[in-house]
Amino acid sequence: MAVKKEIVMSGIRPTGFLHLGNYFGAIRNYVRMQEDFECYFMVADLHSLTTHPDTTELRSNVERVLAENIACGLDPDKAAFYCQSHVHETAELYLYLNMLAYMGELEKTVTFKDKVRQHPENVNAGLLTYPVLQAADIILHRAKYVPVGKDQEQHLEMARNYVNRFNHRYGEVFPEPQAFNYNAELVKVPSLDGTGKMSKSENGMSTLFLSDEDDAIRKKVMKAKTDSGPTEMNAAKPDYIENIFNLMKLVCEADVIAKYKADYNNCSIRYGDLKKQLGEDMVKFISPIREKINTILPDKAYLKKVMEQGAEKANESAGKTMQLVREAMGLKYF
Ligand code: ADP
Repeated sequence: MAVKKEIVMSGIRPTGFLHLGNYFGAIRNYVRMQEDFECYFMVADLHSLTTHPDTTELRSNVERVLAENIACGLDPDKAAFYCQSHVHETAELYLYLNMLAYMGELEKTVTFKDKVRQHPENVNAGLLTYPVLQAADIILHRAKYVPVGKDQEQHLEMARNYVNRFNHRYGEVFPEPQAFNYNAELVKVPSLDGTGKMSKSENGMSTLFLSDEDDAIRKKVMKAKTDSGPTEMNAAKPDYIENIFNLMKLVCEADVIAKYKADYNNCSIRYGDLKKQLGEDMVKFISPIREKINTILPDKAYLKKVMEQGAEKANESAGKTMQLVREAMGLKYF
């Protein structure tokens, strides 16, 4: 008898071009996990409505996220790769989970507080219950592992709370989902300006996008924040320098990193050379992905087929879970 594979779920919002943070925080794990797990990867179009209510560009953004993930190696024949809005049961489960989520804890969520600060004119209830919708996405497939970046840790903890409350009240239906990364630590890819993380919505100059042209990549890396260098041997690195070394770890050879670390420690480091090297290694990493994106994106018939195939697999799994949920909750009257 075939051993049932463990279930994995994750999603990315279609709110703009994907970047290096999405790749190393999430997509790189998707590509490995699709070989060994039953995977559900989702374009989170409903989530994007919480911050992007104008839907004029939604279709092209959805197609872009599909094409960009596939260009990175996500295989729609191996994983279920689908759009959130094509699985209507998500909305049903979201409704049930809302009754198990408390205002106080939702208001304390770091991402909610950040978004209130960024968009004080649009503090909608969907924004407040974002972690509830995310929990519904995950547990709709009864997923155990969720490959995400470090920024999502708190949301996963909330998802576990809802699972425990549900299981406690209505009976064991859901496993507790856990954030997952192949290397023990969750990843945070820092922004090039030395503050925060790379993100779709941040200033474009401090984020490296997977579809950036070679010259744009070089230019952005050269502009990354540095200073005139350490003046004492083996000095501690300021955050923005530590960030640059962290970016090197993603794409540079180990001996190159070791050389610049040694140069830093003996005060002979030349940041201009370091950034030139980092820029070239970033170009080497990003340009083949960009070229693949450019061949996949114009093929609308293929992207439509991917969505249909993904929706079919995701709906089958969601349907099974919701049968169990309705039964456990006593909502099946005949
Ligand atoms: P963004 O914050 O750019 O809008 P999403 O919220 O759509 O990205 O997140 C998609 C995935 O990418 C999530 O798993 C998230 O943890 C991951 N991610 C986003 N930014 C980073 C980053 N700078 N470093 C690591 N992972 C990231």
